Amino acid sequence: MALKPADFKSDFHNDWCPGCGDFGIISAVQMALAEMNIEPHRLAMVSGIGCSGKTPHFFKAYGVHTLHGRSLPFAIGIKLSNPKLEVIACGGDGDGLGIGAGHFVNSGRRNVDMAYIVYDNGVYGLTKGQAAPTLKLGAKTKSLPVPNINASINPITLALASGYTFVARAYAYDVRHLKEVVKRAIRHNGFAFVDVLQPCPTYNDIQTKEYWQGDGLLDATGRPMPRTYKLEATGYDGVVKTSNEGEMEDKIKQGIMKSFEWGDHTPIGVFYQNEQVPTYEERLGERMPTYNSVPPAEQEIARRDGTPLANISRLLDELRVS
Ligand code: SF4
Repeated sequence: MALKPADFKSDFHNDWCPGCGDFGIISAVQMALAEMNIEPHRLAMVSGIGCSGKTPHFFKAYGVHTLHGRSLPFAIGIKLSNPKLEVIACGGDGDGLGIGAGHFVNSGRRNVDMAYIVYDNGVYGLTKGQAAPTLKLGAKTKSLPVPNINASINPITLALASGYTFVARAYAYDVRHLKEVVKRAIRHNGFAFVDVLQPCPTYNDIQTKEYWQGDGLLDATGRPMPRTYKLEATGYDGVVKTSNEGEMEDKIKQGIMKSFEWGDHTPIGVFYQNEQVPTYEERLGERMPTYNSVPPAEQEIARRDGTPLANISRLLDELRVS
């Protein structure tokens, strides 16, 4: 039977503020999962702390609401233990690019086959709107007494420099486009990063829905001109098609150049995709021949009477450096 987005909705009460961009994100993800026929028992959602950290509660699937900035190590552990699960990590820009920045960078170079969605709103919404890592230097939201004194992180540039093999951006209120980006991210064989522009109407009165949809920016006919444009509509191609290192470098450089466009002309879509890089699971499989056929989640660890099957002395002997 075909799945519906409603099949992924839990009964948990959703207390996000009315109009929050987070609603667009979970709708798009639930639509993508239904269209891809990924049954709820094949999915694990993992989050950190923040408004977006509540996401796993709103999904009917396996879910872990972890510690601040730690969604990626939890999610990677789940995926490596049970590679048959679809694993999606999620969190805000404060969670993932502030306290979680070290995990963000190092996850890129591992290339585990999973997806990470950042709800990018420039503020710490759960704690009353302090400046978060993607808020621009000098920006003064209604929740700040003085303009932001810190320069911002560019998540797309950082992801490209960190080795992510799928790097994309989408906009929370363009649910149809976001759904297609999420589907590509899930299908991607490797670590997919999706940065979602997510208006926070409660604390960020700069990057609002009205701003992204063209408030104050008129075209020749006097109509508001959206501040986002779709890369795919311009002929931009970020997909690496061969194992040639030169092609990979050229596509990364092209993506980095694009990542600096911001404001009145902000690109959304896939900046870069490269499936020529072996995944972490493939590398593990080369080192441990039984990894793919009997991954850790399927291994027995004890007999029926509870006595452990693992021989710790033998394991230590195998790891001893002579
Ligand atoms: Fe959404 Fe902002 Fe409200 Fe958090 S504070 S739920 S990010 S609108």
